Amino acid sequence: MNLQYCPPIRDSQDDAKLAQPSKNLFEVRFWGSRGTLPSPGQQFRIAGGNTNCTEVTCGDHTIIFDAGTGIRELGSKLVTENKGRKIHLMMTHAHYDHIEGVPFFAPFFMADSKVDVYCGELDGSSSTEETIKNLMRRPYFPVGPDVFTADVTFNDIKSGDNIGLTDEIKIRTAPLNHPGGATAYRIDFEGRSFACITDTEHVPGKPDQDVLELIDGVDLFIYDSSLCDEELSEFAGYGHSTYEEGMRLCKMAGAKAFLAFHHMPFRTDVELDRFEKIIQEDNPNSGIAREGSTVIL
Ligand SMILES: [Zn+2]
Ligand SMILES: [Zn+2]
Repeated sequence: MNLQYCPPIRDSQDDAKLAQPSKNLFEVRFWGSRGTLPSPGQQFRIAGGNTNCTEVTCGDHTIIFDAGTGIRELGSKLVTENKGRKIHLMMTHAHYDHIEGVPFFAPFFMADSKVDVYCGELDGSSSTEETIKNLMRRPYFPVGPDVFTADVTFNDIKSGDNIGLTDEIKIRTAPLNHPGGATAYRIDFEGRSFACITDTEHVPGKPDQDVLELIDGVDLFIYDSSLCDEELSEFAGYGHSTYEEGMRLCKMAGAKAFLAFHHMPFRTDVELDRFEKIIQEDNPNSGIAREGSTVIL
């Protein structure tokens, strides 16, 4: 596994390297690793301020977990460099920090692109399509999703479903403990694996069996590390977990590495560096998911 911390401001050379992925490239790239609310500002510059958006490249397929504000810049890259790629946008749930970038995702406005949108935990909304319509309507937004010109499909899934994108790309899902629900995803591709586990609240001393099963032996997972253990009781009921729980789950599941993800808007680079030191004393392959960083599996 090759973890590269790209500078937060990317140059065209970085993107050019990724423009033509090989057939079995399995790469994870973070376009937003902040949770809850975007956090611009000097104190947050290294980890980045955009909310949840993780791009996973599996050969010529692009799988995107969540459409937080980070998806805007990803969309620009996809329309300029990756014509003809198959785009699958998989939402963990519909809270603002995971969905607010939807109206700004450029491939939705390209007549020659195809985007398949998936969501599993709708919390009362009747369908994935309805959820997007509710996001893009007055008084919250000036226009509805009928402005999209791409070929867009909306797919309703249930946490626990398996999604076979191709014979080679297998996706499994599991339910998470979050107000209104959230879906965890795991991708297995060409003998390697990655899992996205956000947002979820753990019960201290009782590891989540659904999560453990999903991340069993995984090469890399990202984990809701909004909090640290000493903050957990203060935020009880908000549906979030800690980086220490990520460390414990990593060991218990025999996973190779995890990256702490979904950083609180108040979490500074200095604090995240401190967390990373603790995480890496335990497992040098693990660390903090920072915007602009990539991992090749
Ligand atoms: Zn969130
Ligand atoms: Zn949430």
